[in-house]
Amino acid sequence: MRKNDMVSLAIDGMTAEGNGVGRVEGMAVFVPGAAPGDVLRVKIIKVAKKYAIGRLEEVLVPSPDRVKEDCPCSGPCGGCVYRHIRYEAELRIKEGRVRDAMERIGGLYHLAIQPIIGSPRTEQYRNKAQIPIGWGKDGRLQMGFYARHSHRLIPCEHCLLQPPVFTRAVQAVQEWAGRYSIQPYEEQTGKGRLRHLYLRLAEATGEVMVCLVVNADGVPGEGELASLLRERVPGLKSLVINTNREKTNVILGPTCRTVWGQSYITDTLCGLSFRISPLSFYQVNHDQAERLYTLAGEYAGLTGSETVLDLYCGTGTIGLSMAKRAKRLIGVELVGQAVENAGANAAINGIQNAQFRCADAAEAAAQLKEEGIRPDVVVLDPPRKGCGSSLIDTVASMGPDRVVYVSCDPATLARDLALFQKQGYEPQRLTPLDMFPRTAHVETVVMLSR
Ligand code: SAH
Repeated sequence: MRKNDMVSLAIDGMTAEGNGVGRVEGMAVFVPGAAPGDVLRVKIIKVAKKYAIGRLEEVLVPSPDRVKEDCPCSGPCGGCVYRHIRYEAELRIKEGRVRDAMERIGGLYHLAIQPIIGSPRTEQYRNKAQIPIGWGKDGRLQMGFYARHSHRLIPCEHCLLQPPVFTRAVQAVQEWAGRYSIQPYEEQTGKGRLRHLYLRLAEATGEVMVCLVVNADGVPGEGELASLLRERVPGLKSLVINTNREKTNVILGPTCRTVWGQSYITDTLCGLSFRISPLSFYQVNHDQAERLYTLAGEYAGLTGSETVLDLYCGTGTIGLSMAKRAKRLIGVELVGQAVENAGANAAINGIQNAQFRCADAAEAAAQLKEEGIRPDVVVLDPPRKGCGSSLIDTVASMGPDRVVYVSCDPATLARDLALFQKQGYEPQRLTPLDMFPRTAHVETVVMLSR
C-alpha cells in the first residue's frame, strides 16, 4: 500500500478515538467518519510501519447504523466522532471499547461488564464550553472550535452539544468585542487579548457563569460587557476575568477576578447544592453525573459506620453525596478553588462529618496512612492519566474493604485495575456510562473488594 492509493475497505471496528478500522493485505487502515459495517472507497493519505490512515472518499455500501449528519461543523471540528452513527450503535461501540481495554490492557477476561448506561439526552447536555477566540478569514474576531489535531479555528455559531444560552453569550461577547475593537490573542506572536470564552451553566438552577480568558489583567469596557450579558443571557450570575499570560495550551490561567455578580455558580446534584468556581472541575453532563454518583453510592455499600476517603474529589460532589450514609468523609483535591468549594459545599448542605485537604492524592494518601487513618471505602476519580502505582500501593496498604473507581479513560483504568489485582483487590462490578454522547469518550465505574 502506498500514499494516494485508492482502496475499497470494509469497516469492522473502531479505534478508541472513534476512527473506523478496516484491513488491506492484513494492515489496519484508520478512517475518520467511518461506521462499522460500511464499505468505503478510501484514499490512503499516510502509510506508517504498522498502520495506514485513509480519507473517506465515497460510501459504497452504508452501514445499517449510519444516519445523516446533522451538524455543519462536525466533520472539521472533530469533537463529535459518532454523529453519523445511531446512538444505540455508539453505545455498543463504547461498551466494546471498555471490554477491549479490560481484556487487552488489564488482562481481565472474565469480568462481568454491566450494560452501558446511555444518556437520555444526546444533545445540549454539556454544561461547559471553552471556546477559542481568534482571527477569522474576514479579518474579524471569530469564535468557534479548533479543527481536529490542530489550532485552526473552525467557525461554529451553535454547537449541538451545548445549551442555547451559550450561543446568546457568544453573540453578546462578539458584539461587545466589535464595539471596543478588542483583539483576539495570537498564539504565534503572543499579541492580542482575548484567548477563550469559557461558559458554564448550572442546569438545575439555570445559573450561568461567563468567564473571559484574557492575556492581560483586564479588558476595556468590562462594565458594558456585564450590562450586555445581563440583558442577553438569562440566569447570568457571574462574570469573571481569568488572566493567562503564558504561551501554553492550558486554557485557564491561575488568577480570576469577578467583574460582576458572584465568583461561583450553584447547581444541585443528587439533592445537594454545589458551588462551583471557574477553576474547579465539575461533571459536564448533569443528569448522567447524578446516575454516576448514584451507582458509585451503591458500589460503596455504606451503612453509616464507615470512613470514606474521596481522592480527586473536586468540589466534593461524590463524597458529599455519600456523607449522610457514612461516619466520616475525607476528601483530597489538588486545585485550591475546588477545595474551598468543597468546604463550603459541606457547610451549605449541613454536612458536618466531612473535611477536605488540598494536596496531591498520592502524597495525601501516604500522609493519611501515617496519621493512622484506616478508610473502609476509598473513592478514586482521577483525570485521564489514572492513579498510577504509588497511589494504588498506598491505598491497598490501608486495607479498605471496597474501592470505588470512577474513570474517564478505559485504558488507564484497565492498567490500574491490574495493579490493584496484584495487591489483592478484585474488580467485582463494572458499569460503563455515557457521559459524553457523540464524542469518543466513555466513563466507567468499578467496585473492587479485598
Ligand atoms: N470527583 C470529582 C472530580 C473528578 S475530576 C467530581 O466528580 O466532580 C478529577 C479531579 O482530580 C479534578 O478536580 C482535578 O483537579 C483533580 N486532580 C488532578 N490531579 C490530582 C492530583 N495529583 N491529586 C489530587 N487531585 C488531583
